[in-house]
Amino acid sequence: MSADSKRIVVTGAAGFLGSHLCDRFVEEGHDVIGIDNLLTGNLANIDHLLPQSNFQFCHHDVSTFVHVPGPIDYILHFASPASPIDYLQLPIQTLKVSSLGTHNLLGFAKSKRARILVASTSEVYGDPLEHPQTEDYWGNVNPVGPRGVYDEAKRFQEALTMAYHNVHDIETRIVRIFNTYGPRMRLNDGRALPAFARQALEGEDITVFGDGSQTRSFCYVDDLMEGIHRLLLSDCSDPVNIGNPDEVTIKDFAEEVVALAGSQSRIIFKPLPVDDPRQRRPDISRARELLGWEPQVPRSEGLERTMDYFRSLGAVADD
Ligand code: UDP
Repeated sequence: MSADSKRIVVTGAAGFLGSHLCDRFVEEGHDVIGIDNLLTGNLANIDHLLPQSNFQFCHHDVSTFVHVPGPIDYILHFASPASPIDYLQLPIQTLKVSSLGTHNLLGFAKSKRARILVASTSEVYGDPLEHPQTEDYWGNVNPVGPRGVYDEAKRFQEALTMAYHNVHDIETRIVRIFNTYGPRMRLNDGRALPAFARQALEGEDITVFGDGSQTRSFCYVDDLMEGIHRLLLSDCSDPVNIGNPDEVTIKDFAEEVVALAGSQSRIIFKPLPVDDPRQRRPDISRARELLGWEPQVPRSEGLERTMDYFRSLGAVADD
């Protein structure tokens, strides 16, 4: 192992984003310890890493005490149910992993004198009254609504991370992740892209919620990984938005997916979920300035790669 190779802990290692992070660090020759309790993660996402000598998997729930022997350089906390239907079904686990789990990992970082990067979210902005969202916007979150379990846990996570930085002088990083897509999303996780993709590939009706005029801004996973990597290596302890500012209405997005799938599916409208944000677009000035980062993959290309992945899952059936 070379002198600049690091020992890195990734939580949520078997999840969509966690597994991509593990890939990147393993490829770079670092020693990676992936932790996951497999609540919403899937070992298939990291099967290919298990034989690698610089990858280790640990089946553990980070909401309980975390210990890894030996020195650790970096910790990336990516464990959490992250799609609305998941955290609606798992409200308490969602609250715990970003509160108790973050507390455990900050304590772990302190004991190892390690740098820790926590995965926060555009959900800290709630249903935003300012548009686009800069890091200075404080958000509009309903704490007792169905999404509150995720949003408030992530807001608490940010507060606790800042407190550890200020009180214990821990090196901390906070990434606010906007909607991200790409291979390894679960087809049945209920989010817009996998839902539309499955429906389009199976010739079912496409379920757009509300009138489809709400907006999101979708970032391809490779771009996100690059942004996170740069943030980790930067010295910025303030939150940084990482996302793609290319905003689209959900109805237009559904039409793009149907066209790409070459499908005959038609769009139908279903009730809008409670507290579904009306609009969302990152202001990425801070990431541009501090990290020299901006997304490179246009949605047409990212969607094509992701549809190829969904097709490769086969009959699409029961992921
Ligand atoms: N959505 C939809 N149909 C679906 C799933 C989601 O119209 O089958 C909408 C959802 O109401 C929201 C947007 O797509 O307005 C993005 O939803 P997603 O669950 O992907 O993520 P969110 O940004 O809401 O966390």
